[in-house]
Amino acid sequence: HPTAARRPADLVTVQSENTIYSEDYITSRFVNRGANVVVQHDGRYVVQPNATAYEFQTTRKVPKTGLMMVGVGGNNGTTLTATIFANRHNISWHTKTGIQPPNYLGSLLRASTVRLGIDASQKDVYAPLSDLLPMVHPNDLVLGGWDISGMRLDKAMERAQVLEWDLQRQVAPYMKQMGSPLPSIYYPDYIAANQAERADNVLPGDDKQTHLEHIRKDIRNFKAAHGLDQVIVFWTANTERYSAIIPGVNDTADALLSAIKTSHPEVAPSTVFAVASILEGVPFINGAPQNTFVPGAIALAEREHSFIGGDDLKSGQTKLKSVLAEFLVNAGIKPLSIASYNHLGNNDGWNLSQEAQFKSKEISKSSVVDDMVAANHLLYKTPAQLKTEGGGLAKGKDLSKGEHPDHLVVIKYMPAVGDSKRAIDEYYSEIMGGGRSTISIFNECEDSLLATPLILDLSILAELLTRVKYRNADEGGDFKSLYPVLSLLSYMLKAPLVKPGTDVVNSLSRQRNALETFLKACIGIEGSSDLLLETRIW
Ligand code: NAD
Repeated sequence: HPTAARRPADLVTVQSENTIYSEDYITSRFVNRGANVVVQHDGRYVVQPNATAYEFQTTRKVPKTGLMMVGVGGNNGTTLTATIFANRHNISWHTKTGIQPPNYLGSLLRASTVRLGIDASQKDVYAPLSDLLPMVHPNDLVLGGWDISGMRLDKAMERAQVLEWDLQRQVAPYMKQMGSPLPSIYYPDYIAANQAERADNVLPGDDKQTHLEHIRKDIRNFKAAHGLDQVIVFWTANTERYSAIIPGVNDTADALLSAIKTSHPEVAPSTVFAVASILEGVPFINGAPQNTFVPGAIALAEREHSFIGGDDLKSGQTKLKSVLAEFLVNAGIKPLSIASYNHLGNNDGWNLSQEAQFKSKEISKSSVVDDMVAANHLLYKTPAQLKTEGGGLAKGKDLSKGEHPDHLVVIKYMPAVGDSKRAIDEYYSEIMGGGRSTISIFNECEDSLLATPLILDLSILAELLTRVKYRNADEGGDFKSLYPVLSLLSYMLKAPLVKPGTDVVNSLSRQRNALETFLKACIGIEGSSDLLLETRIW
């Protein structure tokens, strides 16, 4: 199968004066074109185009990379591990409809393509995204990680009830060889009380500094034991409650470090893992919705120039929402309300049945249409417009941030459906002349099978982005690393973490464009491939 097959790295070569290939690097020149806009008092827009030339330098050697998952014994962790074994050892399995070969469907990098240009007969040429730059192949990731449940990985895969039995049967020996997860940090009030029964593999004591040092040592040991050049640490453990943001505790890097030293109760296990990774200089990605990245954690990442990304995997319902809401708003149709119901029966759902953990998920799911709404002041009045033009729909609504569709998120635990989450969404919109349109979506998402490829994409891209450096082409000087918060990962994330003070982009198409444009920039390809100007002129 093409998505599983191994291909050499950097299959795409660019022949241009903007792109130089040396033994160690690909160096490209890219002009970033934008505009400064001044909106005048009378509403006129004055636009001044600008352009800055950059050089990107990407290290060509793909490092031997490890992926350490926090929560490796859970549904996502075991599904990912089993999937990699199936692909690595080319294991096919029988289902009731026939023989299923392994693949990486759902991975942006391994199963999607980008348009490079046209061939001699004017036909579009598409290349796999993973061929643009040298990237780690998922089959080569060395896997490991932690879990508060000590169940051996073959048994944990069975407990997850995600994969077909004939696949489980064949990968079980490999999973068994991996043994049990490393013991992890367990602060019971951070996850639902119903998780206590599986917490049999926890680090002793409650000294957070000792825990931090233990995790740092785990990362170093894993690196050394497998001869790795790089490690990615990925939180795919239970959703935690939010941590309170308290001045002097977690608002600055130093405050957070001393809060860990004094074992302050508002430091979450996930934040200890994030800090451990940052201090070890390895990328840390948060696949769950809680506020692991308190301001002090982001500040620490900045100070240490260590990469972070998050939050929460955008797998099913929210992914669709970030497409559908954008379609409606960009079509000039005005969503008045979006109602989202979920029920699921896996351990994630059980954990989310407790209020504080549900809250984290609710917040993460709720902000997804904000940027689309803010982009269209013809449909949604801004706070300034509301002031001058009056409110309209103000009853019972907080309009301090401007007009906004009503947005409801409900999640219920329903054991019978297991990992096969059901999501029901209603988009109720205003159309011309006071008319109404209702779109209802029923989405059945096999949760872990959708989430697993995202974990791979996030990890592989995070590793790649550590190898990309840039400098201003006119100023020269040393090449620098990218800013530590990897917002280029947004496509895979429900509530993307961005550089503080900059806008979050939730729109799926804008997120993909950003990533595609960036990867192309790194090999010196510029311009919008959708303009297709040659097809529109004589
Ligand atoms: P899961 O409950 O099956 O797995 C989580 C694992 O984490 C469990 O094995 C648990 O024992 C372990 N764990 C809990 N606290 C831990 C700690 N402090 N240290 C180490 N291990 C710990 O859940 P899942 O379905 O694999 O989902 C994992 C996470 O990903 C959840 O937070 C979920 O909300 C998030 N997520 C999942 C999806 C999806 O589609 N599957 C989408 C978005 C986000």
